Amino acid sequence: MRANFTFIGKLNDFLPHASRHTSFNLEFAPHQSLKHLIESLGIPHTDFGRVFVNGKESDANQRLKQNDRVTVFPAEAPLSGDARFILDNHLGQLATYLRMLGFDSLYRNDYQDVELARVAIQDERVLLTRDRRLLMRKVIRLGYCIHQTEPRQQVVEVLQRFKLKDDIRPFQRCLRCNSPLQKVSKQEILERLEPLTKKYFDEFHICPSCHQIYWKGSHYGHMLEVIDELATQA
Ligand SMILES: [Zn+2]
Repeated sequence: MRANFTFIGKLNDFLPHASRHTSFNLEFAPHQSLKHLIESLGIPHTDFGRVFVNGKESDANQRLKQNDRVTVFPAEAPLSGDARFILDNHLGQLATYLRMLGFDSLYRNDYQDVELARVAIQDERVLLTRDRRLLMRKVIRLGYCIHQTEPRQQVVEVLQRFKLKDDIRPFQRCLRCNSPLQKVSKQEILERLEPLTKKYFDEFHICPSCHQIYWKGSHYGHMLEVIDELATQA
């Protein structure tokens, strides 16, 4: 049996060059669901959204008929609750940027695939990865395959995909370990401050997990600029 497929937008990145931005026919067996067929083309179920069959919006679990015409759109539904992410081993810089913007972003450079999947499901986190096979695991419900390779472009991509521009809350999280920061009085951390910091700054936050101290020094101005730039692009 045969059906005709058209993929919209970013979904084309997953396809072989010859199949991009064009319609093509695909042979299939009667037992294959539409969802299974799309995934067999290399597109994880987490990354496609609305599906139309012969112009009518359809359920991806259905079976196709001979000569059906299928159009598939990228997933674009926003998250139902607060954005919570878990990132694979290769996305450390993206994790830091997302934390800078205030998003809960778990990252460890030693997470194994099985563990990533387990935590993503257990904590209902969005799994971010550049490895589409990881997202093709059946158990993964929320995920997104990062297309960009440059970290700042990756942030913009995540902000756009999940429509998070208005949810940016800078400097709420520890950039090193993701814990929410707490206010701390200068007196309590005085002995840890460099002389100039001690002299010029009075407001401090501390990470309750790794004890990193944060204040609005020169790096703060730079981060604000970066955040502004990212938000503008998103
Ligand atoms: Zn920390």
